[in-house]
Amino acid sequence: MIIEAFPVGPLASICTILGDERSGEAIVIDPGAEANRIERRLHDKNLTLKQIIVTHAHLDHIGGAFKLKSLTGAPIYLNDKDLPLLQKLGEQAAWLGMEEPDSAPPDVLLAEGDTVGLASCPAKVLCTPGHTQGSVSLYFEGLNLVVAGDTLFAGSIGRTDLPGGSFADIIQSIRTKLLTLPDETRVICGHGPMTTIGEEREGNPYLQANSQFV
Ligand SMILES: [Zn+2]
Repeated sequence: MIIEAFPVGPLASICTILGDERSGEAIVIDPGAEANRIERRLHDKNLTLKQIIVTHAHLDHIGGAFKLKSLTGAPIYLNDKDLPLLQKLGEQAAWLGMEEPDSAPPDVLLAEGDTVGLASCPAKVLCTPGHTQGSVSLYFEGLNLVVAGDTLFAGSIGRTDLPGGSFADIIQSIRTKLLTLPDETRVICGHGPMTTIGEEREGNPYLQANSQFV
């Protein structure tokens, strides 16, 4: 398997490419920007894009999805609870001082327990609301990997002060959906370095039993 996670756009949002060299198929998670560069990486590795999966509809995670779809024809997957945010891409662009991309409705709506991804490396959709109402994490059990979007960061958690955010929900999501995964599970976060579930269980200040936040 090809697993590449790299920052894109001015907010350095982490975009992930998962590719199967044998079938020549790939998925991309959170193409927040730089669709041309992402498409070139796929092309260089002879990968055909099958799915564009977006963990949540903040502009820095979804911003390049529409262009990437137009370049590759791959469908866009998003949880329907983030549709209101998708309708406000113009407002988001204004807050962030970024350009508003051409947008389109998602092709497939994600729900808890859905299986997405490639046949050779499927992912289970975990609804992890809190950063936004429709935030999802993608658990690739066979790869020992979860892609957590802006729900969980190394040593921190996603902000909950934006529209649709809820601190109680994000803590509940992390505790019930992410900390229940095996300690050795690697975590690709929406920004910053990778971590593991075990490291966050042990050291994340938001997730300690005696935490002032719980
Ligand atoms: Zn976000």
